[in-house]
Amino acid sequence: MNEIDIHTHQVKSEVSIRILNIFAQDLPFLNDKSYYSAGLHPWHIGQVDPEECLESIEQAVGQKNMLAVGECGIDRLVSVDFAMQKFYFRKQIEIAKNHSKPLIIHCVRAFPELMKIKKETKSDIPWIIHGFHGNQQTALQLISHNFYFSVGQSFLTNQDKKEILNLLPPDRLFLETDDGNSSIRGIYSLAAQMLNISHENLIAIVHENFKHLFGFEKMPILI
Ligand SMILES: [Zn+2]
Repeated sequence: MNEIDIHTHQVKSEVSIRILNIFAQDLPFLNDKSYYSAGLHPWHIGQVDPEECLESIEQAVGQKNMLAVGECGIDRLVSVDFAMQKFYFRKQIEIAKNHSKPLIIHCVRAFPELMKIKKETKSDIPWIIHGFHGNQQTALQLISHNFYFSVGQSFLTNQDKKEILNLLPPDRLFLETDDGNSSIRGIYSLAAQMLNISHENLIAIVHENFKHLFGFEKMPILI
């Protein structure tokens, strides 16, 4: 078995299974040999036509290789109007709900709002926080709200995060390269070390989670 990369911006030949992130304004994505997710990133609202982006996502979401809606979410550190961010995030939650697709979420300094929105939208689709970087208290709250977590390089090279990583339920864990240069194999090595389990064991855990969330009865044919 190979490492699964749940969120990446780069096509890398070493990876057998990855979810390539496509920004909504770059849709349609015509490569049917690659899994992908598509979403309107909160940073891009104001630079693109958000309504057009929603339409493109709506069109893409029916494709078999489009596995999740996102990355989408909310970010306190950008100048984009926060109410507008929430508005378009909610729109994308609706699309994901209507098509039973998981959400891949970008959230920066807005976890209380994120939890509130999840509660209000009463969704039973999986919410995966990508590039999770929160503290222990945030992690515990998110666990109690049934979030899934994906972590990458910067989290895994910070020894202070070791305890937090070990708090995350193994059946809610994913790993990612995002827009970094590290290999997904390297990411798994760092995580396996922090979790004190074997690389193979970690691969098996994430495979199970992937099958469970994305509805694969058995692992899809590698591409
Ligand atoms: Zn990303």
